[in-house]
Parts: sequence; structure tokens; C-alpha cells
Amino acid sequence: MKQMPFGRLVGFPALLSAFLLCGKVTAQSDEVREAAKTITADGMMKHIRVLSSDEFEGRAPGTPGEEKSVNYIRDQFQSIGLKPGNPAGIYIQNVPLVGFTAQPTISFTAGSQKIDFKSPNDAVVWSRHFEPDVKVEDNPVVFVGYGVVAPEYGWDDFKGVDVRGKTLLMLINDPPVPDPADPDKLDPKMFKGREMTYYGRWTYKYEIAAAKGAKAAIIVHQTGPAGYPWGVVMMSNGRENFGLQTPDAISNRVAVEGWVTLDNARKMVSAAGADFDALKKSAVSRDFRPVELNLKANIDVRSTIRQVASRNVVAKVEGSDPKLKDQYIIYTAHWDHLGRDPKLKGDQIYNGALDNASGTAALLEIARAYTKVKPKRSVLFLSVTGEEKGLLGSKYYAEHPLYPLTQTLADFNIDGVNVWGKTRDVGVVGMGQSTLEDALAKVVKEQGRVLVQESDPTKGHYFRSDHFEFAKVGVPALYLDRGNEYVGKPKDFGARKRDEYVARDYHQVSDEIKPDWDLSGAVEDMQLFFETGYEVAQGDQFPQWKAGSEFKDRRDRMMQGK
Ligand SMILES: [Zn+2]
Repeated sequence: MKQMPFGRLVGFPALLSAFLLCGKVTAQSDEVREAAKTITADGMMKHIRVLSSDEFEGRAPGTPGEEKSVNYIRDQFQSIGLKPGNPAGIYIQNVPLVGFTAQPTISFTAGSQKIDFKSPNDAVVWSRHFEPDVKVEDNPVVFVGYGVVAPEYGWDDFKGVDVRGKTLLMLINDPPVPDPADPDKLDPKMFKGREMTYYGRWTYKYEIAAAKGAKAAIIVHQTGPAGYPWGVVMMSNGRENFGLQTPDAISNRVAVEGWVTLDNARKMVSAAGADFDALKKSAVSRDFRPVELNLKANIDVRSTIRQVASRNVVAKVEGSDPKLKDQYIIYTAHWDHLGRDPKLKGDQIYNGALDNASGTAALLEIARAYTKVKPKRSVLFLSVTGEEKGLLGSKYYAEHPLYPLTQTLADFNIDGVNVWGKTRDVGVVGMGQSTLEDALAKVVKEQGRVLVQESDPTKGHYFRSDHFEFAKVGVPALYLDRGNEYVGKPKDFGARKRDEYVARDYHQVSDEIKPDWDLSGAVEDMQLFFETGYEVAQGDQFPQWKAGSEFKDRRDRMMQGK
């Protein structure tokens, strides 16, 4: 941000000086304002029409739809005048995906008693080692509670107990620590109270299990804490799933990952002569220690595997400051969607107009706005693949960055824009995580709008789109939620439209451009994202994770070269 020359303020009325001092962005340049205005609804619609057309076949990785999407985005970057984002001089980062379908057999033995589980009704398991046959034989089962290691809460469920080579039985969600002042409520000082932290997500559970050297990790499913019923777990595992084909797949993951229903977890644990509910209760305490059960796991995962070569598209606006141009701000939006399903009657194409042709269109518009200004730092535009298959394109970038992560200041992610008109408010997902939201708040205020918390912070949305892969490796990341208070509309309009979208169109073939779409609100949100990113690109400080963020430790260690 540009500093106001102090001398010019001397003698100004106090109020006016104060205004100029806090109004740094306003003061910084009309050029930025003018550039922001080049982001338009028509500009976005033009791209959405192309990307969500039937011709693009739902943009699934590894299909002709990928070819068309990648070519379109690359050509747009090129014609806007952006440079190739890959230092190799190309607009592409190759992302090797692997598709796998598991056919498992699962049983547990307690002494002479053998319990067989049917997949996917009783339990589901899979292997991300991507080998045709992975076995866990006569393997001791250890109950590790919530499996959480959170230094900022003084919490460690493992207590140094050696679980290497064993099967971990784990609980979903954060430890629900009661508030000492009111035991009916959750302690707001522990794991952010009702809000979900990353320690609560299933992905975290498998990661910590791998970090501890376990052989297998099985999560006990509970509808409330997981946020979705068993049917969702069953469905997502009955079909082909995807991962990244990397040489370290075996060292980075446990051999077998999975879920078991609550009833079947109870059954296993009681066969082992223990009481599941008592164990679960004991896990809601800092003093919890892993409990080895009188139980052995026998799991055999046979998988059919195929390789799918996919691509991220990447372009950049080079920084104008010779000292700062090797530092980066990244904007991300996933181009992929669900493709087509030949088994469907009638419409077979998942057009993904909102999810995420709209975000891709916004990314292109923001990129174009950046060509009108000269940011000091470089700005990277990363259109990622495989989001719908598990944030795979962004994960690949975060694990194989084209520029050092220590020189990467922030990620701004766009996944679905507001298509229902202007809002007075704008939501930030995962509020309280980083100082990026302070930079955002300033620009929001200038727009005459207000910054609010996302509509449902208990669902862990901060962990569900591409920015999260950046957060996980330590890079501060920002993700907006559309506002709720629509200008000139009834109070419940926003909630109603949102619910309607989730119920009817989300991940359905009907996610198409609708006649009532109004992108005027999206324009404001994207101007906001552009100006906030620009602020960071000019700023004299790196954005920081706030105290209490579960990602702060990782960033601090990275910056210290650890
Ligand atoms: Zn999406």
C-alpha cells in the first residue's frame, strides 16, 4: 500500500487527516478502481456460457471436456496478455491422477469370535497405495479417541504411545469439550466451540494416522458430528475414486483407510470386552491415552486402478518491483466438474454452470483486471483440476509448487459466485483464520458493505475447496461466502435461494445458467477480491495466520526453514 506523504497532512483539519490515513486504499490510486470496473457481468457470462455448454461435456478430467476446458482457459489467458505461469514457459502444470475402485473384504476377530462386515453397508474401506491388492492381517486395533494432536490446545491423544503398524479406530469431529461455565455448551476456548476445526475432518484423521506410522485407520461414523448420513459415505465409496499418482503415495498414507457405522463399532468393541460409550467419554479429555483393544483386523482391499493424465492451467502477471517480483499472490478456481453420466435418462451432462464455470469466469475477469495495473509482486492465476475428486489439482500444486511457498503470500479462491443480485453483506468462510480478512474488511467497508461470518460455520466449509490445500501447507488462504442480505429483496431471499440451489441443482445435471441470474453481486464480490489481492501484492507485510489458527504453526516453521 502506498504511504501518504506525511508533510501534506500537516495543518489539515484533524478529521480530514484521519480520513486520509484510514482511507489508504481510496488514496492509493484511481487506477486500481478503474481496473476493478473492467470486471463485468457480461464479461463473466460470456465465459460461463462457453464453459457450461453441452459441448464441454461437464468438464471431467481425462475426457474430451478437459481438452476443451484447458484449451479455452489457456487461450483466454494468452489473449488477455498474461505470461505462462509455469517457469518452463508453458501455461500447463501436469497433474497425474489415478482412478481406483475398491472391492474389499473386512473382518475383525476378538479371541475366537469373528465378525464379518459387509461393504458398503457395515463398513467401507479403500487403499490409497494404488496397488491391486493391499492386505492388513491379524493386525492389533488401537482406539485413539479423536486422534488429535493440537499444540495450540495442549492436546495430544497419542501421548507418545507407539501405534506404528497398527490399525487405529478413531472418532469423527473435534473433541466436544464442555464449557466449564455451562456444561450444556461447548467450551469456546477449545477447538473453537461449535465451529469445526480441521482436527475434526476425516481427512485430518487419515493424515495423522499416517504421520504416526499406523497401518490402517478406521473412523467411526456418526451422522451428527460427521455432518452427513452413512448413505453419503456408502455412495462416495461404491464408485471410482481418485487420488494423485505420486512416488511418495506409500509413505504418505496408511495402507487402508475407511469408515465403520456406529452400531458396528459398538459391536466390535463389545466383542473385545470393552464398552464403546465409556471409551468415547474418556476421549473427551486431555488425559486420554490410546487403548489397545483385544481385537485384530483382517482387511483385504483389491482395487482396479487406472491412470488419468490431467492438467492445471496457470498464467501470471509479473510483478513490477525488481525486489518483490519473485513473491507471489495466487488466485485459484477449479475448472473441473462431474462430466457426463451415460446411465442417466434425458439430460446426461453435469454442466456445472455455478460450480465452477462461474468461478473460472471470475478468475479470467480478475486476471484481465490485473493487466491494467502494475502490482509490485507477481500474481499467479491457477485454474485447477480435480477439485470435485478431492481438491486434487490444488493439492498437487501445494505439494509441487512452481514457486517457493515461502515466497507465496496468499491464496484467494473462488468456487461458485453469487448469481442472485447485490448483497449488503459478504461472508468470509473460516472467519478469524488470517489477517487476509482484515485487508478484505477495509475494501468491503469502502464498498459500503459489511463483512459477516459464513452462514454455517459448523460444517467445516473452510476445508472443502481449493484454498484449503494452501492453508494446509501453511499459506494464508481466503474464501468468500456469498452474502445473505439481498438489496431490495425480502429478508429470507438469500437463504431461500441457497437452500433451493443445494436441494435442486448442486451436483445435479440442472446446474445450468438460469433465466433469473443476476451477476451484479458477483461483480462487487470479484472487484473486492481483486482489490484485496492488489493490497496484499503491494503491502509491506506478509499476511499472517491469527493466533489460535490450526495452520499458524506450519507457516511459522516453514518461514524458519523447518
Ligand atoms: Zn466447486
